[in-house]
Formats: sequence, structure tokens, C-alpha cells
Amino acid sequence: MKPTKKLVLILGDQLDLQSAALRDFDFKNDKVLMVESVPEAQYVWSHKAKIALFLSAMRHFASKLKELHYSLTYIQQSPLSIVATLKEKIVRDQITDLICIEPGEWRLKQQIEELAKELSISLEMRSDDHFYCTHQEFAQWAADKKELRLEYFYRLMRKTHHILIDADGNPEGGQWNFDQDNRKPYPKKGPGLIDAPVLFEPDAITKEVLQFVNETYATHPGSLNDFRWPVSREQALEALHYFVEYRLRNFGVFQDAMWTDTPFGWHSILSSSLNLKLLNPREVIDAVLDAWKKYSLDLSTVEGFIRQILGWREFVRGMYYLDMPKMAEDNYYGHQRKLPAWYWSGKTHMACMKDAIGQTLQYGYAHHIQRLMVTGNFALLAEILPSEVCDWYLAIYVDAIEWVELPNTAGMALFANGGRFTSKPYIASGAYIKRMSNYCGDCQYKPDVRFGDAACPITTLYWNFLIKHREQFEASPRTRLMTANLRRISLEDQDAIVEHAKHLLTHLDDL
Ligand code: FAD
Ligand code: SF4
Repeated sequence: MKPTKKLVLILGDQLDLQSAALRDFDFKNDKVLMVESVPEAQYVWSHKAKIALFLSAMRHFASKLKELHYSLTYIQQSPLSIVATLKEKIVRDQITDLICIEPGEWRLKQQIEELAKELSISLEMRSDDHFYCTHQEFAQWAADKKELRLEYFYRLMRKTHHILIDADGNPEGGQWNFDQDNRKPYPKKGPGLIDAPVLFEPDAITKEVLQFVNETYATHPGSLNDFRWPVSREQALEALHYFVEYRLRNFGVFQDAMWTDTPFGWHSILSSSLNLKLLNPREVIDAVLDAWKKYSLDLSTVEGFIRQILGWREFVRGMYYLDMPKMAEDNYYGHQRKLPAWYWSGKTHMACMKDAIGQTLQYGYAHHIQRLMVTGNFALLAEILPSEVCDWYLAIYVDAIEWVELPNTAGMALFANGGRFTSKPYIASGAYIKRMSNYCGDCQYKPDVRFGDAACPITTLYWNFLIKHREQFEASPRTRLMTANLRRISLEDQDAIVEHAKHLLTHLDDL
């Protein structure tokens, strides 16, 4: 019998020294493998900041592992895929046992399982303890539900983990959800002074990575001029503590607000650190609960924030593993259009899109409402092929990993799965964007004009969408209300909207 030779694979989004993969590491015999794979950075046309963040965070983590005397093979810029590089290593070193945490990408999970079978080695794929809910628990919850809705899942998570639950077992404040107190626009005069998020000057490792990415991935979208992301656990913890200390207090009330040149608002900017596993969601929620008591923060902001992490983050992950690989192929409306080229350049006349895409190219970041109600809303109304849109989201945000990007884009923003976990499409006209931002003031289009040269394309396409799908919307009690306003638009105007929309849809690149 061959002697046991164990290899622990650590992927680029599993950068935690407390990782379950390292739990029983035998320093005398076991080895760790980390791989920078060139094809992984290229299989979608990734933003330079996303590539740089992964590389810098991986190299920081690798230096920690070395400091702690792990026997690490770190392969820089392998020309092969992760799995092909892993295969070479397993064969060369005659590995008998592979240990890893389940990858955040379904495709990679399948490929690693297949590789282990092909090479007849033992594979232990451990559950990722950076989530409260396991796949099995989620599948069990979903099994007997007629409808899969966040709200009920979230309540269960609150109860199970005893978060914001009072001594009698009821939700704190007597309600599960305080949305009516949240989600206001900024005051008419603007957001005023916002405590800026903590930003990190590039250290030597990051500087080297930035130079490398600028040279090697020069044609990729986005800029590295403002790269200030946390790249290590220490920095991520500092960002967390700064957020709860200074920025959490206004998170809830302004979480949906948008304003020109206000890329971060009061948001936490913690998604990349959470997704790289530099932070554990438990410590984020604990810090938020501590700050709630310490600074007597409003329950509405605290509950609103916790819902994003304990609710949405867990829920979309559960949905991803429940519905893959179908989720990546769903196209409920059969949309086939190409993504306009300006999604990659920001060169559009629509002020809202220009601002949301502009900051995305600058930082690799846009907040939730910009992703959902600006770029996502437009992509749905403009009938873009879901896989084109998903590729863009996966490429362009520093926090984008498929388990979280795909359900948000295909499921939430594009309704590509026909409402498997949302009750209706998230669509809005320019009126919503006007209410929640100052974008329309600087725009050549007018949000309340429905057709003609001055018409806001989002408004025209919104009404066009409702006219096109009217029967379907009216058939369901959940969407019936959305078409009610159509009755106030004369048939003549409806024809003009449809005509104008036809023109827009065939000239999307010119908008
Ligand atoms: P905050 O607004 O401060 O929220 C706090 C945390 O809650 C976030 O850091 C994140 O971890 C979590 N969270 C909030 N909303 C969601 C959500 N809908 N799903 C999962 N977690 C959530 N998030 C990603 O992490 N990666 C993605 O690739 C991604 N793609 C998205 C694509 C679309 C079309 C949409 C509509 C949303 C997407 N989101 C994604 C969710 C959300 O927009 C981001 O998590 C958030 O904007 C990150 O910024 P923040 O850290 O400042 O979040
Ligand atoms: Fe966006 Fe329309 Fe407002 Fe212009 S008018 S900023 S396109 S919503």
C-alpha cells in the first residue's frame, strides 16, 4: 500500500488561517498548494482591480502561511487552469489524499471531484464555515416550500442563530423588518458629509502586483489608480471596525440612495473581504451587534445591515447550489441582445449609467441599488442575453464570485429564472432613479418623457416592457398592480412608446 501523502488545496477566495481545510494539518507530512491561474483571470474579461485584489490577497496569505512554517507550493501565473495545475502536482508528488474547502464555483467543484475520480485519490471536500447555513440545511428548508422567499428563510436564520431575537423569542423591536424606516433618498441638497471608508495604501506586495497587472492585463477593463482594497486579514478587520464605528449609523436610511460622484455612500465596502474569507460573517454580525449597544444605534440600520449578511448572502448561496447548473442557462424571457459596448467603457449619454459604470471602472465597486436598479434594470428592459450580462458582472466587480454574482444577476436583476426566488421582476422607469438620485438633473434625457428624442431610454423601455408582457403581468396577482398605470396612457401614446422602443433596442450602442 502506498504511504499517505496529503495535499491541501487553498483557492484564491479561501484565505483564512482558521480554514477547515487546515484544521488538522500535519506540519511534518502535509503540503499546501495555492495556484495563480492565468486562464482563471481571463475566462471572463476581468477588471484589473479584481485580478489585482485576488493576486495581492493570495500573496499576502501565502506569506503568512510561510511565516507559520506551512509547507507551501505557491505557483505564480500558471498557464494552465487551476485543475490542470493541481493534476500535475498530484501526479508529480504522488499525492494520495486531497483536502479542500468546497469551491464557490459549481464548475470548479465538479472538476475537482472528477479529477479525484480520474486519479483514484481520496478527496475530502469540507464544508465552508464562512456561512451560517450549509447546503444540506438550505436544501432541507427549500424542500417543502411552495415559494422560496428570502423573508421566511431570514426569519429562520434569525431564530436558529438567535440574532436580534429578544428574551421571549420574538424579533427585536417587535418586527422582522424595518424597511419602512430605511431606503430614503439623500436630502435634496445632497448627501452632505459622509465619513469616508478606510482605504489602504498599497504596500510592497500590492505595488508589485499592481505593476504586474497593469503590464500583463493592459487591455482588460478598469483602472488601478484608486486601488485601495483590503488585501490581508489585518486590513479587513480594520475596515470592519472603522465601518461599525463611523459608517453603520447611516447605512440603513441611505442604503438605496445614489448621488453623482458618491461611489460608496454609507455602505460597508466589506463584500470583497467577506468573499475572500478575510472576514467571517459571524465576526461582522457580532461587531454590528456590539456597535448597536455601544452607540445606541437605530435598530432599523442594524437590522437592515444584518439582513444583507444573514439573509441575502446566505440565501443566494443556498439558491446557487440548489439550482446549478440550470441557473446559468435560464433565460425566462428568451432575451438575445448583445450587451452594449459602453458597459465596458462607461461612454453613454445616460447620466445614471455613466456614473454607475464610471465608478465601477474606477474602483470595481458599485453599491446594490446601482447594480440592481441602474445597470441591472437597464439590461433587463433592453432585453440583453442573461449570460452576457452575467459575464459582465462576474468580470467587473472586485467581490464577484459565481455563487453570489449569478443568483443576484440572473435571478434577482434579470428574472432569468422566471421568479424562482423573487415575486416579480425588479423593473423601474426613470421616475425611480429620479427619486433616489440626482442623476437625472445632469442628463440629456428627461425621466418623465416616455417617447421622442428627449425621452429617458429607461422610461421608454420600462413602459415598452409592460406593454409587451401585459397579459402575463395581469395574470398574476403579484404583478397585476404594475400594469395598472398603463391604463392611464392613451393607446396612441402606447403605440408611440413601442415605436420609440423599437428604435432604441436596435441602436443600444448609441445611447
Ligand atoms: P453593503 O451594502 O454594505 O452590504 C453588506 C454586506 O451584505 C455586503 O458586503 C454583502 O456581503 C452582503 N450583501 C448585501 N446584499 C447582498 C446580496 N444581494 N447578495 C449577497 N450578499 C449581499 N455581491 C457580491 O458580494 N458579489 C457579487 O458578485 C455581487 N453581484 C451582484 C450583482 C447584482 C446584479 C446585484 C443586484 C447584486 C450583487 N451583489 C453582489 C450584492 C450586493 O450588491 C453587494 O454585495 C454589495 O453591493 C457589496 O457592497 P458592500 O460590501 O458595500 O455591501
Ligand atoms: Fe438615467 Fe433616465 Fe435619469 Fe437620464 S433621465 S439619468 S437615463 S433615469
